[in-house]
Amino acid sequence: MVRHFLLALAAPITLVSCATAPTAPPQEAAPASSPLGVVSSADPRASEAGAEMLRRGGSATDAAIATMLALTVVEPQSSGIGGGGFYLRGSPDGAVVTLDGRETAPAAATPDWFLDEEGNPLPFPDAVLTGLSIGVPGNISLAAEAHERYGKLEWAELFEPAIALAEEGWELTPRFHDFLGFAAVRAKNTEAGRALFYDEAGEPLPAGTLVRNPDLAATLRHVAELGPFAFYRGAWAAGMAEVIAEATPGDADMTAADIENYSAVWRDSPCGMYRDYRICGMGPPSSGATTVYAILKQLEGYDLGALGPEQPLFWHLFAESQRLAYADRELYLADSDFVQVPVAGLMDEDYLRDRGIQIAINLRMDNVEAGTPPGTRAIMADGEEAVESGTSHFVVVDRWGNAVSYTSTIEGTFGSGHMYGGFFLNNELTDFSFIPERDGLRVANRVDGGKRPRSSMSPTLVFGPDGKLVLAIGAAGGGTIPVQVAKALVGVIDFGLPAEEAIALPALYSPGDVIFVEEGSPLVELLAPLEGLGHTVQARRLPLKANAAQLVDGAWIGAADPRSEGVAIAP
Ligand code: GLU
Repeated sequence: MVRHFLLALAAPITLVSCATAPTAPPQEAAPASSPLGVVSSADPRASEAGAEMLRRGGSATDAAIATMLALTVVEPQSSGIGGGGFYLRGSPDGAVVTLDGRETAPAAATPDWFLDEEGNPLPFPDAVLTGLSIGVPGNISLAAEAHERYGKLEWAELFEPAIALAEEGWELTPRFHDFLGFAAVRAKNTEAGRALFYDEAGEPLPAGTLVRNPDLAATLRHVAELGPFAFYRGAWAAGMAEVIAEATPGDADMTAADIENYSAVWRDSPCGMYRDYRICGMGPPSSGATTVYAILKQLEGYDLGALGPEQPLFWHLFAESQRLAYADRELYLADSDFVQVPVAGLMDEDYLRDRGIQIAINLRMDNVEAGTPPGTRAIMADGEEAVESGTSHFVVVDRWGNAVSYTSTIEGTFGSGHMYGGFFLNNELTDFSFIPERDGLRVANRVDGGKRPRSSMSPTLVFGPDGKLVLAIGAAGGGTIPVQVAKALVGVIDFGLPAEEAIALPALYSPGDVIFVEEGSPLVELLAPLEGLGHTVQARRLPLKANAAQLVDGAWIGAADPRSEGVAIAP
């Protein structure tokens, strides 16, 4: 084992320390705990919706569903019932289940879905704004499946807070106002979006405006009263298919049958040990579990705790481990119902140790390539996927100590810009690779009829040395998600930080040839030392937004990202 060798070798390396230690900016809401549990989400009104379910005796699943529905109303740019998500549920004693509510391509979709007549990939913005980008939404099916197994309250009750918000109105936040400006092309793509969020002159409504969304209230009532099938069947579903078909060029449209055939899928949760902790995440079609785990496990031989977050050396190692993990993710991760994904091999201890050994402590690796994890059966090619950001993560722990870690998304900000029933329809299908093959080799994440696009979403649960659940965490932010989660896990496990401080640590994102460090963070001072190791480094505004709950001295404490408007509420 190479563990602890790092410190012995660290002395000859002349790296300049970070002048300012990255510390957690002050949190607006004090960490809260309650015997009834805790909810942490990206919006206080959504956290409150979940907290209300906990007060009424609901389970973590009930509260998570109420939170997802409320986010559809108050954070419509990021997630909602027009999109999909991944749900992890952990019991205090170590059991984990996962539910895949990822959006699905229509049956008529083919590998050339995003190619023009000459066989060139469509420009990304063009693809997003058409029906080609819209997958069959999965969140209502996910909610129904999860509720059937783990719900304690009535289905309709879970909709009450979201209906009240949509009917009585909610105050538009400063962050949402900003999104209306820079994502206006999507937000006011339809008359409905324009009427909801812009004034008569077409200017974004100011922060503080009370917004009512009666169409969404009616949709929520419809599904609350008639049940989840009302979303996927009948005239209502046919209407959704028609709206999508009208926006889709050509005649390979989404049909009512595509919507009717949708169902969320229970899947195994890939878990692995990192130090004394068991880390469980979301498997294919998400790259979350394998990517988070690889970033951590490849660094297990290093005493990261002794280095700490002030050391450039830590960030160099973290960057190099990401490069290795993302190379594997690009090549292998896709919908495992369509391609063979060697999940166990990608999380194999020996394989990841050997990958980690490639990292040098005093020089950037010249060339990073995907490895050949045990169990690989097919040789494939790297795809080409765009990086986007429009998602929400939330966690709930209930009075029985069960935790739900749920990431919900419509993909980009305001999704496809198309609306139905008062909510935005996703553009999740642009998470597929636009190119179906390279040099005669198939791209794993290419489009196919009925396939689910690869995701970065990384809802995660962590079990401590005694096997008990200790942390539920996840993030929004496209490709940065696995990095945000891995960084926070290092913060908690190696640096011994509380979850909220671990989330607040600055971020460094290194999926390929360039390292991006979080603009305005102490990491900008590391540009020179990292360049000295051969890296190309850029400071950039990164889409960061994580939420967590952590067991501290027997009490569950919520944590929200200080960069966001999120808060934790303990009822
Ligand atoms: N659609 C992305 C994914 O599933 C998430 C987008 C985001 O988080 O911003 O990976």
